[in-house]
Amino acid sequence: MGLKYSSKINKIRTVALGLIFAGMIIMYIGLYFRNIEWLLVTFMILGLIAIGLSTVIYLWIGMLSTKAIPIECPECGKPTKMLGRVDACMHCKQPLTFDRNLEGKEFDEKYNSKKYWKEQQDQS
Ligand SMILES: [Zn+2]
Repeated sequence: MGLKYSSKINKIRTVALGLIFAGMIIMYIGLYFRNIEWLLVTFMILGLIAIGLSTVIYLWIGMLSTKAIPIECPECGKPTKMLGRVDACMHCKQPLTFDRNLEGKEFDEKYNSKKYWKEQQDQS
């Protein structure tokens, strides 16, 4: 299966890392404009915001990790953490679910949305 899915925690971590780099690049670009004070200040502030945001995301991951349920992946046997009703293994990207009704079904992010489950309930 050509699953492009990755574990949520991994995904958020990638975003946070990307933001740190983005912030550094923005500040670096700002140095080219050190003759134009307002531009330099603008770039520095933007860079700091990006880095600050990534710090917040890292804290958020920390909080999420405590809520995530540690399990052993049935596919690769490595320990992974699950967030929400469906998630993917951090190591082999195997889709995992707690919900027996979803076993064998194609992995879909919509299973994590409350709206989807409400719609399902309304139908039955
Ligand atoms: Zn696995």
